[in-house]
Amino acid sequence: MPAEQILTYDEAASVVAAHAATLPPPKFTTRVSLAAAHGCVLAENIRTPRALPPFDRATRDGFAVRAAEIKQAFHVSGLLRAGQPAVTAPLAAGEAIEIMTGAPMPFGADAVLMIEHAERTGERIRASTGRMLVPGDNVVPRGSEAAPGSIMVTAGVRVGAAQIAAAASCGMPDLLVFGRPNIAIFATGDELIEPGEPVLDHQIYNSNAYSLAAQVEEAGGRALIHRALSDDLGATENAIASAQASDNASDLLLVSGGVSMGKFDYVETALRNRGAEFFFTGVRIQPGKPLVFGGLPRPDGARQYFFGLPGNPVSTLVTFSLFARLLIAALAGEHSYAVPFVSATLAEEVHSKPGLTRFLPAVVHHDIAGPTVRTVLWQGSGDLAALARSNAFLVIPPQREVFLAGEAMTILLR
Ligand code: AMP
Ligand code: MG
Repeated sequence: MPAEQILTYDEAASVVAAHAATLPPPKFTTRVSLAAAHGCVLAENIRTPRALPPFDRATRDGFAVRAAEIKQAFHVSGLLRAGQPAVTAPLAAGEAIEIMTGAPMPFGADAVLMIEHAERTGERIRASTGRMLVPGDNVVPRGSEAAPGSIMVTAGVRVGAAQIAAAASCGMPDLLVFGRPNIAIFATGDELIEPGEPVLDHQIYNSNAYSLAAQVEEAGGRALIHRALSDDLGATENAIASAQASDNASDLLLVSGGVSMGKFDYVETALRNRGAEFFFTGVRIQPGKPLVFGGLPRPDGARQYFFGLPGNPVSTLVTFSLFARLLIAALAGEHSYAVPFVSATLAEEVHSKPGLTRFLPAVVHHDIAGPTVRTVLWQGSGDLAALARSNAFLVIPPQREVFLAGEAMTILLR
């Protein structure tokens, strides 16, 4: 067994973050359509080739005028709608052009009098009593959102709806993104049976391989589920050896189960026999205490990271969210991922034992006044039914025992 190195949550999180920070961006890039880029990490900056907006744009339906003339009556000489070129003949004194949202401002006009603020008689309009207008009102000037050639989105950002909209607004039909990192998943346990297979009373279905695969895909990685390993040192070592081989080298190994102190927990020994170095072998958290993190040597000289995640399904899921997720973000080239801790108001009194940082399955009620949180009744770290009823974890700091309704608490979203 490697020498035990049990860290606090903060220490372990900084160890993982420090390793994540040293990872270079992925070598492999590919150009994909806007729709296919969703969830990928950008490998190039998105620059706009032209000014945005490309013309002085009316933001309201109304009348394009000179603001200085607001106290006078205007003669309405024409109509401009979105999709029409701007009128280049300068606006004459006292002239107004009816204009629709999204249309280019006519030359010489500097503001839009909103239709709701105008009184119209035939071809003449006036501002309603007391309505003022200053230059720039209801107009977005050309280039005020982005100058030509400026960066709209930087490389290393995960592509979501906003980034896709930004790229489309620059006229880009496709984006250069990083290839997804390959994440190998090994469940361990003699008791495991795959869903869909016949099961005996003493056996349980393998759920960790599938929850981990879902989390990996959500994190921007490609999940490679391997056959579950039996609790056997030789078999575990062979599986790790084949995952180390360069022809099918994955960027990260996730092994679930077999990392506790039980007689048949061979994962740490197998890793050590394969040349692993261990950065920590446990974290003072619950669930998830036996978590191990380290690196294996690969034939090409690179380091292959691994997490040995505790086998209890809730522990597996929460330790992935707390630690593995961050490393996968870095492997995927995403530079600004942060574990989604937010604050919520506790809706009930909660008692806890001090000593460990706890992550209790909880339901967060999202309300515009702010989120509130209450715990879900659960039977411990194997309770997938409770997990499935929850949508977050309530974080219980290690120092205190009683938390009162109304207190601000940290929660981990998922
Ligand atoms: P271990 O960490 O191997 O001691 O496993 C702790 C608990 O988690 C045991 O009750 C296991 O049966 C259960 N467990 C381990 N691996 C899985 C898995 N892949 N899917 C569901 N439960 C598991
Ligand atoms: Mg086991």
